[in-house]
Amino acid sequence: MSASPVYFTAVDSRDSQESIAGKLSFLLQESGAFGFLSHGDSVAVKLHFGEEGNTGHVRPRYAGTVCRSLMEKGAHPFLCDTNTLYCGRRMVSVEHLKLAREHGFTKETTGVEVVIPDDTRQENVVQIPIDAQFIKQAKIARVFSDADALVGLAHFKGHMMTGFGGALKNIGMGCASREGKLAQHSDVSPHVIIQNCTGCGACVEVCPVSAVTLVKNRSSIDSRLCIGCASCIAACAFHAIDVQWEAGGDLIQEKMAEYAMAVLREKQGKAFFLNFALKITKECDCLAKDDPAIAPDVGIFASPDPVSVDQASLDLVTQAAGKDVFRQAHPGRDAAKQLRHAESLGIGTREYKLIRIP
Ligand code: SF4
Ligand code: SF4
Repeated sequence: MSASPVYFTAVDSRDSQESIAGKLSFLLQESGAFGFLSHGDSVAVKLHFGEEGNTGHVRPRYAGTVCRSLMEKGAHPFLCDTNTLYCGRRMVSVEHLKLAREHGFTKETTGVEVVIPDDTRQENVVQIPIDAQFIKQAKIARVFSDADALVGLAHFKGHMMTGFGGALKNIGMGCASREGKLAQHSDVSPHVIIQNCTGCGACVEVCPVSAVTLVKNRSSIDSRLCIGCASCIAACAFHAIDVQWEAGGDLIQEKMAEYAMAVLREKQGKAFFLNFALKITKECDCLAKDDPAIAPDVGIFASPDPVSVDQASLDLVTQAAGKDVFRQAHPGRDAAKQLRHAESLGIGTREYKLIRIP
């Protein structure tokens, strides 16, 4: 595979949001970013709206710049994300939508609607057979497979489980249904936090395979029966069921790359990726606080290749910081694993040609 183009515009801490939006607009124009679109295409613009209190997520103003550029091409974009596995305001669609609005993602600021499908409804989930090394059947939110095209807007930052998160993570993990996310996070069933369990029985009610029972008035999960649908996590109002976050090691990165392959399978030539290496934090935007930056602002990267755009972002952040900040922040993680596996799956290449846009 020959090197992919990665377009780049530098940003530093003196740039205002207005000037960054101007640079972004010029980057989109000069890179011919959305030349692949046909008039009338629906475009799912995938991004993370940030957990409550998070300040690192992609700004509404930049999402608006991208959406307006898409609309100028005659496309119909909408902003989109899926609900989370962990307990927080982004776990259910109604609260998630409310939070997105509170963070400024309104039709007034971005020009488009926000869509967050309720993936507890099976009709909103699609299964994609990929028969890859770890994932045989990927479960993703139908809204992404239904869209004609996909644009990923990722905040490039650290992540406790994957070392860093960029384009691949935004698509691989971010487009997965709750069940798909659980499959990536762990090979095992969720676990019960006994001290939080009230014995209300809601988890027993929702389990589709009767893997949950009440034992001495506390929930108990039979991991031999569990199919990892994550319904019990969503159903528990007491935060008494959670993913076994520590399980899996770097395997999560490979599964994530396989999910990205599934999402992109029907988007050949109809996808584009933007990484915002601004306010580069140790943890991801699921962190409900103002996480300080661990590297200087670098800029915005754009490419039709999600592997190249992540590799270029990683290289330039490392260069700007003078060290591998993600390895230092998460010593147990080999963050390049997601890139190697994605490349081996043919999603893209780690070889890139950096094209600087002034
Ligand atoms: S839903 Fe939560 S609190 Fe209720 S029984 Fe299940 S684990 Fe316990
Ligand atoms: S994850 Fe799904 S299958 Fe497993 S125990 Fe929970 S509800 Fe049942």
